[in-house]
Amino acid sequence: MDITTSFDPEALALPFYDDEHRSFAEEIGVWCDGHGPLWEAVRRMDPDDAGRRLVGLLGEDGWLAALDPQAAPHRLPGDLRALCLGREALAYAEDLADFAYSIQSLSATPIIRFGDAEQHKRYLPGMADGSLIGAFAVSEKEAGSDLAAVRLSARRTEGGYVLNGSKAWIAHATIADLFVVIARTGEGPGPLGLTAFVVPADTPGVRVSERLEAIAPRSFGHLSFEDCRVPAEAVLGRPGRGFVVAVDMLERFRMTVGAAAVGFARRAADAALAHTRNRDAYGGTLFDLQMVKASLADMEVRINAAALLVARAAWDCDRGSRGFARHSHIAKVHATEAAQHVVDAGLQLFGAAGVVKGGVPERLYRQIRSLRIYEGATDVLRQAIADALDVRRAALAG
Ligand SMILES: Cc1cc2nc3c(=O)[nH]c(=O)nc-3n(C[C@H](O)[C@H](O)[C@H](O)COP(=O)(O)OP(=O)(O)OC[C@H]3O[C@@H](n4cnc5c(N)ncnc54)[C@H](O)[C@@H]3O)c2cc1C
Repeated sequence: MDITTSFDPEALALPFYDDEHRSFAEEIGVWCDGHGPLWEAVRRMDPDDAGRRLVGLLGEDGWLAALDPQAAPHRLPGDLRALCLGREALAYAEDLADFAYSIQSLSATPIIRFGDAEQHKRYLPGMADGSLIGAFAVSEKEAGSDLAAVRLSARRTEGGYVLNGSKAWIAHATIADLFVVIARTGEGPGPLGLTAFVVPADTPGVRVSERLEAIAPRSFGHLSFEDCRVPAEAVLGRPGRGFVVAVDMLERFRMTVGAAAVGFARRAADAALAHTRNRDAYGGTLFDLQMVKASLADMEVRINAAALLVARAAWDCDRGSRGFARHSHIAKVHATEAAQHVVDAGLQLFGAAGVVKGGVPERLYRQIRSLRIYEGATDVLRQAIADALDVRRAALAG
């Protein structure tokens, strides 16, 4: 099989993957290769226009079809391994394409997993064909890593709820047609008093309070809710179970952030290899220097380890392992930290050419940074990994 772009055929051949994943990887790799002019174009576009264009195109070309499981064609695996492979390929090709794919998946998945038949029918076909854009709004200025501190209030009224408060740092906030929101309904203290809602963006009372410019351009902003009335049918899952919805999503999606990191890192390493082979220096090329080779070797080691950890976490989740979250956290921490090293080392090998705006190293340098923060900052996940060690040791001992 002729695997293009980002994928390592030897990693794909491992028993973590099935043939349907290998076919999916080949198809999406070829698709990414065939859209070079589009990637150039979206980088010059307003991020909102780029986001709409990319979600629409991903939907039209079938890459979001798994978001409507009832209608999804059988050729498309709708599992975490496929999601990770999709993110890896898209991140290799273009950050905004990965962003569009991941945020659409992140916002549709809680509806798939916790929504009722009516919510499935109302939202999933549009999210799968790209005509309906979603956003997943959990964070607030005072509640980022500390999810249980969410304050956005959802007060029960006859027939529904009234939402008042705000959300912060929301991807696709400025273009979304619907928000999956976690709000405080007060059934219990802290994490026990939260509920998930689906709020259409045209609901009176919800608006983008601030557009944000990120280090790597993207549709991104804060939301405000003022006497925003939603019916009881807007509840996703059960009242009081919003924390479970948020944690379930984050545990699944953290490994996919690791997969995107692998895509960015492979792109950086490939660019660095090509540059050092072509760059004349000291009567040979940069590639002839042992220190340069050592740097390229370190990149390769880091990327290989990251790809394996992501594959293991996704396989573990897809086979229904109850302990998959630990592997998801390990994969995200290692892959995002490794990618930061690889991107930095890759830029170093370009010398001055690496810092020129718009070049591959400079772009990757800006794009990789936020992956170590969102969906669980490295430090937060290190704490979770350490806490799980105790639980595991106790379980093994008992
Ligand atoms: C590009 C981008 C896109 C985002 N998209 C979304 C989105 O779509 N939806 C959404 O809801 N949110 C989104 N976020 C928000 C993101 O989830 C939060 O930024 C993240 O959870 C961290 O929260 P915070 O920024 O409030 O940082 P804080 O919680 O204030 O943490 C700041 C730092 O303190 C340290 N820290 C915090 N807690 C601990 C701990 N327990 N142990 C050790 N160190 C700790 C870490 O170094 C951490 O980076 C996005 C953020 C970015 C950058």
